[in-house]
Amino acid sequence: MNIKRFHGEYSRGTEDYRMLNSYSETQSDVPFDSESSWLDKFLIAWQELISNQEFYVRRDLTKYESSNTTPEDDLGSTFNEPKLNARVRDRDSGEERALYTCNTSHGAAQFTCSVCDVTVTGIRVLQSHMGGKKHMAKLAEYQVIDHVPDIRPAASLLGELLKQFHVSPLLGLEYIVEVKLGAHEEVFKCVLCGADFDLNGILGHLISTAHRLSFLRKHFPVVAAKFSSQLPEFQWPPHTLETLDTVAGRIEAKHGRGEVTAIRGLLAWEREAPALTSNIEQMKHARETPDFNFELLPDPFRIK
Ligand SMILES: [Zn+2]
Ligand SMILES: [Zn+2]
Repeated sequence: MNIKRFHGEYSRGTEDYRMLNSYSETQSDVPFDSESSWLDKFLIAWQELISNQEFYVRRDLTKYESSNTTPEDDLGSTFNEPKLNARVRDRDSGEERALYTCNTSHGAAQFTCSVCDVTVTGIRVLQSHMGGKKHMAKLAEYQVIDHVPDIRPAASLLGELLKQFHVSPLLGLEYIVEVKLGAHEEVFKCVLCGADFDLNGILGHLISTAHRLSFLRKHFPVVAAKFSSQLPEFQWPPHTLETLDTVAGRIEAKHGRGEVTAIRGLLAWEREAPALTSNIEQMKHARETPDFNFELLPDPFRIK
């Protein structure tokens, strides 16, 4: 077990800071690097989960991938009609779905236009439906996403492992992209914070104050403002970290966890990063509402 690797990017910064500030250590009654020691119990649980489960989860994913090699979800290439890959987003609910679906179980391809709720037989008939006035009017009620990232999604190792990780709430999991570099190597990119991690380090990032605050600033500004402080994050008192954890837990309980996007290969990432990122940005995220915004939360820094 490589404990040093396991803190990843997260502790490197704090170590530098500790050297700069070591003279003040004796004067402060807040334990130094309180965030790191607060996070330790979760990181130990994560390390245990990896040691016990990584092998089995990888084995199952390999089986799953090899039995799912037909790229049947790419209708556009199958029928040489790029419009078939378009998706629509409901302007009110934010829900996203494929604009067209195809059923070939009766021999001839039957296409369903999901906004008109119309089923036709054959690509030619569908193409004339696409140009129709009624269809265009219906479509105007939705946001149309033309460019679907040109990648086959892969099953996520992180997503599978996290199904067994319940000791800490996780915010903004949908901002993580798992790029598969090889059979046993991935890099995890947090597109919210713009940072890269390995499997050991990603959990520490997800539960770090820095990541949680970036998520809250974006989607829960009322409570994010309560946590804005001059105090560097690693000096936050444990009760403040506990409060942040409680807030994260309540958001997770209400909205559930997001899903990790997994893709194959660094090339796919380099080609599709802008499209993937904007796709993630526009996804449905947990966000504050007038009756769910932590407005009544007392100052989390006040000494109890
Ligand atoms: Zn239609
Ligand atoms: Zn992040």
